[in-house]
Amino acid sequence: DAPLKQDFVRQIVRDDIASGKHTAIKTRFPPEPNGYLHIGHAKAICLDFGIAAEFGGVCNLRLDDTNPSREDMEYVTAIQDDVRWLGFQWNELRHASDYFEVFYLGAEKLILQGDAFVCDLSAEDVREYRGSLTEPGRESPFRNRSVEENLDLFRRMRAGEFAEGMRTLRAKIDMASGNINLRDPAIYRIKHMAHQNTGDAWCIYPMYDYAHALGDAVEGITHSLCTLEFEDHRPLYDWCVDKVDLAGHPELLKPLTDAGLPLEAAKPRQIEFSRLNINYTVMSKRKLMALVQSGLVDGWDDPRMPTLLGLRRRGYTPASLRLFVDRLGVSKQNSMIDFSVLEGCLREDLDAAAARRMAVIDPLKLVITNLADDHVESLAFPNHPKDEGFGTREVPFSNRLWIERDDFAEVPPKGFKRLIPGGEVRLRGAGIVRCDEVVKDADGNVVELRVTLDPESRPGMEGANRKIKGTIHWVCARAAIETEIRLYDRLFSVADPDDGSDGKSYEDHLNPDSRRTVTGYIEPSAAQAAPEQSFQFERLGYFVADRHDHAAGKPVFNRSVTLRDIWAN
Ligand code: ATP
Ligand code: MG
Ligand code: MG
Repeated sequence: DAPLKQDFVRQIVRDDIASGKHTAIKTRFPPEPNGYLHIGHAKAICLDFGIAAEFGGVCNLRLDDTNPSREDMEYVTAIQDDVRWLGFQWNELRHASDYFEVFYLGAEKLILQGDAFVCDLSAEDVREYRGSLTEPGRESPFRNRSVEENLDLFRRMRAGEFAEGMRTLRAKIDMASGNINLRDPAIYRIKHMAHQNTGDAWCIYPMYDYAHALGDAVEGITHSLCTLEFEDHRPLYDWCVDKVDLAGHPELLKPLTDAGLPLEAAKPRQIEFSRLNINYTVMSKRKLMALVQSGLVDGWDDPRMPTLLGLRRRGYTPASLRLFVDRLGVSKQNSMIDFSVLEGCLREDLDAAAARRMAVIDPLKLVITNLADDHVESLAFPNHPKDEGFGTREVPFSNRLWIERDDFAEVPPKGFKRLIPGGEVRLRGAGIVRCDEVVKDADGNVVELRVTLDPESRPGMEGANRKIKGTIHWVCARAAIETEIRLYDRLFSVADPDDGSDGKSYEDHLNPDSRRTVTGYIEPSAAQAAPEQSFQFERLGYFVADRHDHAAGKPVFNRSVTLRDIWAN
């Protein structure tokens, strides 16, 4: 019963259904398998899959694999895993390369119609002839080749007779167009290179604009959502769809129907929305790849990376990412989103979804002198303060505890409410202690606090209601499990690492403190966590059992997010 979302994309879909233009809608998510998906893709995924589902339609996952030089099977698999993890199921899994034969037949049709020609200009000449925003372009000297010659040359391009760069197939549109994308753009190029899906079957490959438009048409996509930078490409998109007209020429789809695929061609509509940008990070696959390859991060799934794999390992949940995308909304306004918005969504999700535990990450020994050395106790703690459904757990308690070092101050700063020499503090769920003695080592470092427990202040007793300023968390030093705790923070120390105006590159702005590993202690029930299970460690933040390295006997927890926004000022 979520409220109806009212953005301009959904309004278009709603209108198309109301007017009877479409009875069912169909979208697609079309990543190029040339890297891992990042949080920007999560926005596109949530829109493509989310809108289809909201309107009773379906969404295809299409791997846009038209450029073999940067693509790999590794990414094809990872993309599928990421989409499923986010909580979406595609209608069909397709590859743009599944349609290469259809695209080829479409190109021959364009040649026969006089809408495409084989051009022998070099890449450099093409650039030169293209003109600029202020100058119209000039027509290629090969523009008026006969249909027969074009067809012959294009077939020989396919047959592998020419070297890379020697010829292209270009759409014949308008060299004087104010839109440079329409100045006879290339639609096929020669590449003598194996493809991750089609192997050596092809040595000519379609250009993105042509393949994308036709891919959408082949699948009967009704609403083709993409980011704003494609707005200027829309006239070319429409030109390709209209001139090839797959919906009106089912014979062009024969290679697919022969292979058992359904006839679905329709005329798609491209709709552009703004890209997601987040501060304190970089987002393009190229830059993320560079971080991985230079070893500046520990791989694509480094918990500091904005990749879905990195966010997942950091402890981000699918629900928190979907909440984030919902909260952003959809518009045509490009903007920079504050990283804290993303963190807020994770806190919101985990506040409700994560059980509470106690952990100490910077331990200081606390000895309760009025409990016997062999005193052992087990205290029942609720797992969630607001949800009884989480049940309770047993927390071991004895005369030796660990507390956080910064919960004690020998010389307290103003307003300090925790433990000081001679002062009292409440141990969460255990009673009130008074600090009698501060034990130091030879260098003057505090190594142990000796305290007495007020025996009338145990949970449930009248004396427990005594007003005490501070409550601190603790773990039993006899029962707690030693744990590797990875404290992650933002990867970059400036809001716009990519700005470049200071003459520096994003690599110069890495936050040197973005990963700190410490040894802490957690209560036994936290050590039993399954990999990827999240907890709120009371007063510290949300932590997740590391997906790969955590084991009950050797726990490893990653800090997902602190409880409060420590970057706000
Ligand atoms: P990058 O520039 O990071 O390499 P891309 O746009 O080349 O990304 P594609 O694989 O082509 O990546 O993207 C697949 C889909 O995801 C496209 O529809 C694209 O518009 C969308 N997308 C990519 N980045 C973002 C982003 N930052 N915000 C919203 N959508 C995005
Ligand atoms: Mg790309
Ligand atoms: Mg792209």
